[in-house]
Amino acid sequence: MTDTFKHKGLRKKLVGELKLKGILDENVLKAIETVPRHLFMDEAFLEFAYKDTAFQIGAGQTISQPYTVAYQTALLRIKKGEKVLEIGTGSGYQTAVLMELGAKVYSIERQKSLFDKAKILLPNLGYNPKLYYGDGYKGLPNYAPFDKILVTAGAPFIPEDLKSQLQIGGILVIPVGEGSVQIMTVLDKVSEDSFEKEEFKEFRFVPLLEDKDWRE
Ligand code: SAH
Repeated sequence: MTDTFKHKGLRKKLVGELKLKGILDENVLKAIETVPRHLFMDEAFLEFAYKDTAFQIGAGQTISQPYTVAYQTALLRIKKGEKVLEIGTGSGYQTAVLMELGAKVYSIERQKSLFDKAKILLPNLGYNPKLYYGDGYKGLPNYAPFDKILVTAGAPFIPEDLKSQLQIGGILVIPVGEGSVQIMTVLDKVSEDSFEKEEFKEFRFVPLLEDKDWRE
């Protein structure tokens, strides 16, 4: 698959839509305009690639809606060279957006088939994140601390392991909620054991699954 002028045009249009919906961070918009989202989806669904909707990517999972990707990414306030942990690699699209902003990305996925796919696709597109097959609840203690942590699935609670793997001064962005609706939550780590919490809008994510829910 290739990236044509038509795709680029569709991305420009998508960016226009995101602006109207309130995404104002120029760097984030530029990243969305750059990453070829259609290459993260099955060819058969090309026509959906630049619609502002979530879409099935197999294994019962979805590539997040562009608005959601832009919203979460803006909350992270990424600076070049920052070390970012992403939970839920999925298609790898959000990973690519973070890398366009200059982040060094570590990303964890618990579905083997999606992990395998992203591991081939991302380097093919010129992105070289560190990808791990495992349980995002546990984070990556061996590579901590992280400047930023992003959870891209709905979490029933904020995992302690992720809080402890955050750098002081770092930010954790996580959609929190038990049911099908989550509240976008931002934790600022102000010292080793204190956090400032801010809550934003409601979103709907696929669930962040715990060990007991694992069914491969
Ligand atoms: N960032 C992705 C969005 C994927 S949806 C993208 O841009 O495409 C959320 C992802 O989280 C799914 O792929 C799901 O398999 C994964 N996930 C769910 N529970 C997880 C866990 N405990 N650890 C790691 N990944 C998990």
